[in-house]
Amino acid sequence: MNDLCNALKRLLEYGIYHKLLDVEEYHYAYNRLIDLLQFDADDIVACEDVDYSSIVPDEPSAILQPILDYAVEHHLIDADTVQRRDIFEAKVMDIIMPRPAQVIERFKRFDDSKDQTDYFYHLSQTSNYIKTARTNRNHRWQADTEYGTFDITINLSKPEKDPKDIIRQGKRTEANYPSCLLCKENVGYNGKTTGIGRTNHRIVPVTLNDEAFYLQYSPYVYYNEHCIVLQREHVPMNVTRATFVRLFDFVDQFPHYFLGSNAGLPIVGGSILSHEHYQGGRHTFPIERATVLESFELDDITFEQLHWPLSVIRLRGRDRTRLIDVAYKLFQLWETYDDPTVGIHSYTDGEPHNAITPIARKKGEFYELDMTLRNNLTSEEFPLGIFHPHPEHHHIKKENIGLIEVMGLAVLPGRLERELNQIGQIIVSDRPIDASLAHHETWIHTLKEQYDGEPIDAFLQQQVALKFVQVIEDAGVFKQDDAGQAAFRRFQKEVRHALG
Ligand SMILES: [Zn+2]
Repeated sequence: MNDLCNALKRLLEYGIYHKLLDVEEYHYAYNRLIDLLQFDADDIVACEDVDYSSIVPDEPSAILQPILDYAVEHHLIDADTVQRRDIFEAKVMDIIMPRPAQVIERFKRFDDSKDQTDYFYHLSQTSNYIKTARTNRNHRWQADTEYGTFDITINLSKPEKDPKDIIRQGKRTEANYPSCLLCKENVGYNGKTTGIGRTNHRIVPVTLNDEAFYLQYSPYVYYNEHCIVLQREHVPMNVTRATFVRLFDFVDQFPHYFLGSNAGLPIVGGSILSHEHYQGGRHTFPIERATVLESFELDDITFEQLHWPLSVIRLRGRDRTRLIDVAYKLFQLWETYDDPTVGIHSYTDGEPHNAITPIARKKGEFYELDMTLRNNLTSEEFPLGIFHPHPEHHHIKKENIGLIEVMGLAVLPGRLERELNQIGQIIVSDRPIDASLAHHETWIHTLKEQYDGEPIDAFLQQQVALKFVQVIEDAGVFKQDDAGQAAFRRFQKEVRHALG
């Protein structure tokens, strides 16, 4: 019991140190914690006053461990899984952090939007809504490719699904509250229907295009200050003229962040199409450093064709109203554009296929908007998508190429970490290929031929990056060969003609 009281005391000191909790709330928070932990009357001891001399860590996972262990031992957590512990942990952290309206009030008190996001990001980390100890486990590296330096992340932070949780979820009938994982109703929600504890979740209102949105951070932070901007209503993703206005409104308010949208169509969109949202943050993505192959100007707006695996036209200019008009016209032009010589059909049987993944950022007084051209057509040969990772690359990446991958950051599954180690041993020691690596077999044979005795880890990191480039080249509508590039130039000529 003494150890537990100590842990609670340390948690309170942690909260006060990180300004989650006011010193005047010390006893209030302690009492709420002993209530959550269902202490017997005999076990309740007074918690001594805060000790300012103790060393406080940056994140609370070590402090929380004995508290969660106690909750498991006393059956306050009904199954000892990562998911059930996370749900309980969110309730613990909620007690020592500001309530939603207090967070909004503090956020708005800062005049500078950089101070606002600094405050909110720090809060999202210290409250362990973003689990830093877990996301730090991700294996990240950079590697040079013909398109510049790419970023690779092996996602080791997402906990493997525990069979006990899967059984539990299987028993439950589909719930309709909240409508999805992005909905504002997740704030403070204990995760009963979603399996994800959000008691410590906070969001902040922002106005874009005179419409109500909320700003929050992604708990998985695939890059620095990875934020999500979600519409107040649960309405489906859709790229329209309003999308460009909202993106520019956001970068005007938060010029140190970029903001992008996934395409509004399946296959070329993100994983959540049911709720209008954008992703942004404070990170320079590889696409930002891409070189320019060709460019032209129309009335102070520069059109740049980027040297990039996907087909991207960057618009740049000072006048945002004109940029929005141009972006919308370009989008409309693309929506109905056909080029059967390279397999681009905008409509089949009345179904639209052309879409755009737009990314906005501000550079001093200039606005930039990367317009990524997408198409979601399928065929008998490619039932998952013609402009989608092809089967020979599925051993690395099978999922949709969304906004993050478009910008040059590969987020790869955790299983790859172990598999790459095994592949390295096979290459170096010429061991036979284990049955569990059968999906990589063709790749391993190619790697063996290319391997020239360099350090194996560096070799494999480079090869994964090259593979990822091929994966996103598959998603490019205008291919990198002569026919593809000629077709891209034809489209740009059409744009010049239509907008000039
Ligand atoms: Zn929703």
